[in-house]
Amino acid sequence: MEISITKTTCPGTLPEASTLGFGKVFTDHMFIMEYNAEKGWHDAKIVPFQKIALHPASTVLHYGSEIFEGLKAYRTLEGNVQLFRPMENIRRMNRSAERMCLPQIPEDMFLEALVKFIDFEKDWVPSATGTSLYIRPFMFGNDETLGVHSVKNATFVIITSPVGSYYKEGINPVRIMIEDEDVRAVRGGTGEAKCGGNYAASNRAGERAEKKGYSQVLWLDGVHRKYIEEVGAMNVMFKINGEVVTPMLAGSILPGITRKSILELLRKEGYKVSERLISIEELAKALEEGTLEEAWGCGTAAVVSPIGELCYKDKKYVINNGKIGKLTQHLYDTLTGIQWGRVEDQFGWVYKI
Ligand SMILES: *Cc1c(COP(=O)(O)O)cnc(C)c1O
Repeated sequence: MEISITKTTCPGTLPEASTLGFGKVFTDHMFIMEYNAEKGWHDAKIVPFQKIALHPASTVLHYGSEIFEGLKAYRTLEGNVQLFRPMENIRRMNRSAERMCLPQIPEDMFLEALVKFIDFEKDWVPSATGTSLYIRPFMFGNDETLGVHSVKNATFVIITSPVGSYYKEGINPVRIMIEDEDVRAVRGGTGEAKCGGNYAASNRAGERAEKKGYSQVLWLDGVHRKYIEEVGAMNVMFKINGEVVTPMLAGSILPGITRKSILELLRKEGYKVSERLISIEELAKALEEGTLEEAWGCGTAAVVSPIGELCYKDKKYVINNGKIGKLTQHLYDTLTGIQWGRVEDQFGWVYKI
């Protein structure tokens, strides 16, 4: 693939690690390429970070044709840069594209664009503990007409943002509100696609939870409002009676790469793991009987986020005395260890730039 390069004339500098938040600072450049039905993907380029001009009738602005991915580049102690399971993100983006009638990106083309772009911006990968370069590939439908149909034109972009440590003040368990009014997704809908619209639709519940002092919502299934789905932008797992349980992937849940990695890790370590339906009654019962030992959310941003309290219909349940559990800590240490190159990668998950 040919990628034309235009360097910025006013390069920025990587901010001090302690001032990095999430997604506020962007690197000097971005990757962008265009698609149309005749030419396929074309005009791949790395250009100075800049605004994108859109036709006012552009599909994405009216009908929400947008999908995205999220992964990170990590700097090892030796100073090298590496990715974590990038092929998983590439394949998931193509599955999201299929669901939203957006064009596929050939895997090798996507990987080449990603690797070349990260290599180009590698000085922006911070090195302080817990920091990384967040990578946000996204694609949107860009037909310049108001007709409703699957798109003939699309734009694919990769932007990158140095991000701070998710746990600056140590790993504090979060308080989660179980949402029993709004739902995030239903089977057959777009729940298993990483698309922008899912987020727009979940903000209302998130705001209500925040007002009540909770950091995120735990979604129930859209049909019965009875079975656990996921937490905000994370998948969710529980340790009940020594066994790790997590909702199975049945169409409404986002198939997280962190989720997949944790399940593979646990199975390798000989833990009992099951992917199945988990009802809110089962959880409440386990909480009352004291068999719910640990709970955590998992996703690329936080890796593992212990849950210290669940609130359901104004009833509060404290988990593990509001402290991080042993297994939660172990999973966090192992995964972050592999990602930053401090723990041997026995799975072949690391991709060196
Ligand atoms: C991205 C995302 C996750 C986590 O996926 P990872 O691949 O582990 O980062 C979970 N739930 C939702 C809704 C997401 O968008």
